Amino acid sequence: MNMEIDQHVISWPCFSEYEIVTAPNGKRYIRPTEKSTAYRFHYRVEREQRVIDAVNVGMLVLGQKSEAVIEKAVLEFVTKYGLLGLMTALPNSPDYMEYEVTFLPKNRFIRERSMKTDAYQKLFFPFHDLQKMRAKLEQEPDWKDPDSCLEWQMLMSLSDQPEGVMMTALREYAEPYDWVVDQLKDWAYMVSSCYFFYKDGFITDLKLRISMQEGMEAYGGIAPSYIILLREKPTLWWHFHSLHQCIHLTLSFMLADENNPLRMCKYCKKIYLAGTTEDEWFCSEKCKNAYEENGDQ
Ligand SMILES: [Zn+2]
Repeated sequence: MNMEIDQHVISWPCFSEYEIVTAPNGKRYIRPTEKSTAYRFHYRVEREQRVIDAVNVGMLVLGQKSEAVIEKAVLEFVTKYGLLGLMTALPNSPDYMEYEVTFLPKNRFIRERSMKTDAYQKLFFPFHDLQKMRAKLEQEPDWKDPDSCLEWQMLMSLSDQPEGVMMTALREYAEPYDWVVDQLKDWAYMVSSCYFFYKDGFITDLKLRISMQEGMEAYGGIAPSYIILLREKPTLWWHFHSLHQCIHLTLSFMLADENNPLRMCKYCKKIYLAGTTEDEWFCSEKCKNAYEENGDQ
């Protein structure tokens, strides 16, 4: 079954440079730097490569690489693709800003099942006044400032979206660093669990099999809404409201794809896309040669 995902319309906000800063609440956050410029890219572009990149940053965390290595990889990832949009990904509806209380289905970051919407949004705007940020959505840009115009254009491109989505496009929007790292790690865990589960045929150790199956069940997601378009063939058209949703769903499709497009390099253990190299077991010729020379790392 090939479930095509199509989504041309939505572009995602991104800034040219990000930094990790400790907020007044004591948590470390990732946010665009002051001098960064706003731009946007389409969800559809590099959709699979984006998943691979996200998973490979997570693999560094699973591989217990040093904090410096992980931080660098996380910053490279967000600089390329933007923040995950967790503020809209966690509530049960992207329209949560219309309500005083935000409902949160089970997730790994916030234990409460509901929170006052102000308090919830403040988790993502720890450096700024929330009311001013909301007012910014209505403001005209400073026409003399090219950066302000670019940011405004980006907001306008999202103007048919719920306000909660537009707010994730503001320069002042930030995400807790630990949450981003944990999310990337979860995606890597999903891929490596699948890989080891099927690597040597079906696992015969019943206890191990059940524990891996149960572990995987914890990683379901909230499906974004969709419509069916009648084109040359019926096509599912998804309404993504965050980069997180887009990656999570694309990854889930890739894991369930019978063609098994995700491969783990036998040498460097990086995840790569099947068909991108000639060999089925290695991400590159270099890794293949290194494996033949040195064996398993
Ligand atoms: Zn490799």
